Amino acid sequence: MPSVGDSIDAYCLKCKLLLDHVVLFKVGGAVKRVQCRTCGTQHQYRPAAQADRKNTAEKKPAVRKTAAAKKADAAQALAGQAALAWDRKTRETPPDMPIRDYSLGEIYRLNDVIRHPIFGVGFVEKVVSDKSISVLFSDAVRLMGMHIAP
Ligand SMILES: [Zn+2]
Repeated sequence: MPSVGDSIDAYCLKCKLLLDHVVLFKVGGAVKRVQCRTCGTQHQYRPAAQADRKNTAEKKPAVRKTAAAKKADAAQALAGQAALAWDRKTRETPPDMPIRDYSLGEIYRLNDVIRHPIFGVGFVEKVVSDKSISVLFSDAVRLMGMHIAP
């Protein structure tokens, strides 16, 4: 056990490193206060083991995201937004609102509720043209054809 004035390894909060410190005083045989030899800051002594564990827990993985990963993240964020908007829309829509089965030959209007065999229930957000509508599904907004003769 080091005595007052001895060197001790401690974690310096200012330097953010495990550094050589001087023991300033001890209480009941335990080192209580130290001074960093590098920056001169005095602070409570934190045992190295504890500091190491803290340091490891705080470390974030320094993984650089690839363009593909970023794209996937963006897609996921968009899907999340769609899910939220879809949820809100579902709650706002009266329960007696008719749901029309989606069919390419039909004509849909803004706020129509449709059911697609694959994408499920969707809300017509926008009539893009006389042949297409923008539909909010639970996972994404999709451009869907309409009024197109089979
Ligand atoms: Zn320091």
